[in-house]
Amino acid sequence: MISKKMNSALNQQIMHEMNASSKYLAMAYQFCDMGLLIFGARFKEQSDEERGHALKIADFIQDVGGKVVLDAIPKPRATYPSAQAMVEAALESERTVTGQINDLVDLAFDEKDHATHSFLKWFVDEQVEEEKTMSDLLAMMKIAGQNNLFLVEHRLTSGMGEKKDE
Ligand code: MG
Repeated sequence: MISKKMNSALNQQIMHEMNASSKYLAMAYQFCDMGLLIFGARFKEQSDEERGHALKIADFIQDVGGKVVLDAIPKPRATYPSAQAMVEAALESERTVTGQINDLVDLAFDEKDHATHSFLKWFVDEQVEEEKTMSDLLAMMKIAGQNNLFLVEHRLTSGMGEKKDE
């Protein structure tokens, strides 16, 4: 049985993941508005992934006899000044989530909650992957420059900069 404190911290993380999902969905549509349809498609996929993370945590809470309680998701920012600004914000968001996951691991460790500690390992590894994906994308955008983002999209579709299968 999971502790109330751990249960509540995991419920918080569900909302952080839903927040990331919502943020990426808003970004996806702004990319599409800019004509960057491949970026848009990628960010829609990323949004789905984040929602998947939220559900994975919720399912785990139930598996260990806890209670899933959802909270409000903050309203996502409506517009960003540029495509690069969105990817910079996305990378920042991933770094924030990494910190949140690390805090959960610390709590599980403090509580000697081995089941939650083991469950969270997947998220630790996932964050390494997600930070790398965003920082690689940002690096490509900086090299290409604002006027050559279609080249970045071409790379995304040609397999370079492709996300690895999970
Ligand atoms: Mg996530």
